[in-house]
Amino acid sequence: MIICSECREKTSRKKLIADRGFKNDMQALPIVCSLCSWTDVLKNYQDHLNQIHPNPICDYCGEKFSSINDLDRHKQYDCEKITVYCSLKKFGCEEMILRINLRQHYLSEHHQKTLINIVRHLISTLPNITYKQSEISSQMIIDLPHTTENNTIQLQEFDEMINLLSGGIETLSDDIQRLFTESIRHKNVLDPLAQDIPILKISIQEQNAFLDGMKINQQVLQQDLASMEQKLNAMKASSYDGTFIWKITNVQEKMGQHTFSFS
Ligand SMILES: [Zn+2]
Ligand SMILES: [Zn+2]
Ligand SMILES: [Zn+2]
Ligand SMILES: [Zn+2]
Repeated sequence: MIICSECREKTSRKKLIADRGFKNDMQALPIVCSLCSWTDVLKNYQDHLNQIHPNPICDYCGEKFSSINDLDRHKQYDCEKITVYCSLKKFGCEEMILRINLRQHYLSEHHQKTLINIVRHLISTLPNITYKQSEISSQMIIDLPHTTENNTIQLQEFDEMINLLSGGIETLSDDIQRLFTESIRHKNVLDPLAQDIPILKISIQEQNAFLDGMKINQQVLQQDLASMEQKLNAMKASSYDGTFIWKITNVQEKMGQHTFSFS
């Protein structure tokens, strides 16, 4: 469904009919070629473009395009060679700038100074304008001295603020310079350290391997020790002169209160 914007009447899409007359009127519009001085009706324009300008070329950078639409899009967004005047040209910022560098230009010192000058100029002219108004309107005279005073104070505040801001910008750019120098210094310190890291890694690996070796040695030693202890215990329980001797520990206690008599 489609609603007519004129009379709000609803019509189903199927019942819509193309306005042939309107299309024909359009085709009969006189038109001038945007690339040469050719002029005729719109109907013949596409043929002219196809025949005379099949590969339009960008005047600024010389790039070739396959259609006038592509060229227009290129000129509007992409061309890196198009130069423009700064929008503050009539205030003294008269440089021609490559359009792609416009953002950088707006941040440049020259442009910023032009801006500050414009603001200063506005500040110096504003109170006078208010006075002229006071001459025109007698009713305003009563209110004006107060307002003008306020304006002047406000403008002074603006002026101070702008000075403050431009001071701030200088400090910031000093800071950037300082941080940059510092970062280079840190980098110089870090680079040799970073070179040491692989060497350290290798020596740690070597130490680990050494420690592993030590661990194995220790285990072997412990086993040796255990077997020696066993042997020693066995030796304690045996004698070598052919007779069996029992070793009895803590004889005194086991005998208790009994006394021994030897005959
Ligand atoms: Zn209608
Ligand atoms: Zn043409
Ligand atoms: Zn171009
Ligand atoms: Zn500028």
